[in-house]
Amino acid sequence: MDQFTPQNEAEMLALGARLGGALEAGDTVALIGDLGAGKTTLARGLVQAVLPQEVVPSPTYTLVQAYDLPEFTLLHCDLYRLEHPDEAYEIGLIDAMGEDVCLIEWPDRLGPHLPQDAMIIDIKFEGDGRVVSLRGWGNRHV
Ligand code: ADP
Ligand code: MG
Repeated sequence: MDQFTPQNEAEMLALGARLGGALEAGDTVALIGDLGAGKTTLARGLVQAVLPQEVVPSPTYTLVQAYDLPEFTLLHCDLYRLEHPDEAYEIGLIDAMGEDVCLIEWPDRLGPHLPQDAMIIDIKFEGDGRVVSLRGWGNRHV
């Protein structure tokens, strides 16, 4: 497991940018962390590393935002408002997983639909800062 301690928003964006380089089409990334931990910031850094003009809003209300990156299509999801795991079908996420890169905030809302081989980014508050832990990265296994 790799751990990082980004000290501010800029370092969180930079971490997202680095992680983007490790992703391939079909990867599912579960972004775990409390409200305000920095999940959306990390996703924004990842997208803006290759599309600097993109605003990358939080998908709080839309639930899903799609970006056509050079190497793959990326879906950025915020499932906080998902009321039932099966609603993931309606927003196209079930079809996309395993094909596109899916970055998923509040992945617990997917229940049994979260793939076993999802990579995990876990962001925890620690003091004033954050600790970001990665699982399933090096050998792509959890
Ligand atoms: P989440 O999506 O987990 O709810 P956000 O990405 O929206 O969280 O971030 C919430 C706030 O925390 C934003 O104001 C963001 O700039 C800030 N932030 C993100 N990462 C860090 C960090 N490593 N250190 C300090 N502040 C951060
Ligand atoms: Mg968010």
